[in-house]
Amino acid sequence: MSKPYTDADVQLVARAIFMDDYPDSDPGPAMAQSQMPGLHEYVQNARAVLDALAAASRLAPVDDDPRHIIEFRPDGWTIKHPLACRPNLFACRVNRAAERDLANIDGPPYLGQYECSANDLGDRLHIGDRVDPPEVAR
Ligand SMILES: [Zn+2]
Repeated sequence: MSKPYTDADVQLVARAIFMDDYPDSDPGPAMAQSQMPGLHEYVQNARAVLDALAAASRLAPVDDDPRHIIEFRPDGWTIKHPLACRPNLFACRVNRAAERDLANIDGPPYLGQYECSANDLGDRLHIGDRVDPPEVAR
């Protein structure tokens, strides 16, 4: 079973611990090593904190589903992206294809959650298998 946190979470916690020790410095989100004395220790401490929270079941599992899932609701649609997409959703081909293909539709084509992807050119949205049980759909 994978850990319920990511390397980005470790960096986030390490940065928070560092900022507690050095409130007047800002290592930046990337935590450049030259700006952080003892970086390795901060990362170790961050992992210890996250492991303790994980052991106490206080962390939700990381959602590392590699698929794009589109949910059609009566009032519109949303896409859940894989982790790899999240830093830059505006560049996501699936998102752009969905916005293009679904911009002028009059209501959702159907309700529920479906796998989706974009074609190689990124100009067409493909809607795949339904992933939620129909009785759950609203
Ligand atoms: Zn995406």
